[in-house]
Amino acid sequence: MVEEAWVKLVNFRNGASRGLGVLDEGRHAVRRIEYAGRPAEELLPLLEDWDPEAVRAVGDPVALSAVELLAPIPRPARNVFCVGKNYHDHSAEFASSGYDATDRGAAVPKLPIFFTKPSTTVIGPGVEIDPHRELTSSLDYEVELTVVIGRGGRGIPRERAMEHVWGYTLINDVTARDLQRDHAQWFLGKSLDTFCPMGPWVVTADELDGADVIVETLVNGELRQHANLRDLIFDIPTLISTLSAGMTLEPGDLLATGTPAGVGLGFDPPRFLQPGDEVCVRATGLGELRNRIAAA
Ligand code: MG
Repeated sequence: MVEEAWVKLVNFRNGASRGLGVLDEGRHAVRRIEYAGRPAEELLPLLEDWDPEAVRAVGDPVALSAVELLAPIPRPARNVFCVGKNYHDHSAEFASSGYDATDRGAAVPKLPIFFTKPSTTVIGPGVEIDPHRELTSSLDYEVELTVVIGRGGRGIPRERAMEHVWGYTLINDVTARDLQRDHAQWFLGKSLDTFCPMGPWVVTADELDGADVIVETLVNGELRQHANLRDLIFDIPTLISTLSAGMTLEPGDLLATGTPAGVGLGFDPPRFLQPGDEVCVRATGLGELRNRIAAA
C-alpha cells in the first residue's frame, strides 16, 4: 500500500525508462510503482482486478520537472465515450450557435446524447494539438471530467453504477465546429488526430467525489470555462446505466461527461483556437492539462 500522499497515478517517461508512478504534489516528485511485486508499466491491464493493497512505491523520488508525463491511458482499447450537451448553460449556447445540426437544436436533451472519439485521438500533456488547417477553421476546446471504468458490466443499474467507476482523469474534447455542423453529426469533427489531450494524471474513485468537481479552461491564461459537476443534466450514474443498458462496458473504458458553457463558439463573434494558443483544462484534484496549438 502506498502512503497517503501517493494517491495520484501518472504514466511517465524518465529518459529511457517508462512506467507508472505515484505523484507527490507537495514535493513535486514522482516515484515508480510496483503492482503485485512487478514493475507497473501500463494502467489498462491492471484495472479489472485493481487491488490498492498491491501497489507499492519503489525507488527514489524523481523531480517532476525531470520527467515527461504521458496520457494515463495512451491508447484506450476502444473509442472514448462522450456525452453531448450535458450542462444546461452549454446546451443553450450550443443550440443557439448555428453549429448544432443534431437533436433539432433542442436546448435541453430529453435523454443523454452519446458519441465517441477514436483511441487514436489521444495525446499526453504538453503535446501539440494539430490544428488541421486544411480541414477546419473553427478549432474549439471542451474541458471534461472523464470517468475511468474499472469493473465492466452490462445492464448496470443506476444505484450500483459507482461500483464500476475506478477513477477519474481529464480530457480536452477538442472539436472542429465546422465539420460538426457541415456533416450534421459529432463524430467526424471530434475525431481528428491529437483531438483528445488526456491527463495529467488519474485519481482513484475513493480519492475524489466525481459529483462535486470544479472544471475550468484557460486559453492563454484567460478563464473561459468554469463549472461544477453538480450542474450536469445527466449525472454519472445515469450516464453509466444508460450506456450499459444493452452494451457491455469493459475495464478501462473512458466516459467523458460533457462540457459546460464558455467554449469558443459561445462567444459573439466566436473565439476559436489559433496556432500558438495554449489551452489549459483543469479540475479539482486532477491537476492542469496544458497543450499548445501547433503552428500552422
Ligand atoms: Mg464534449
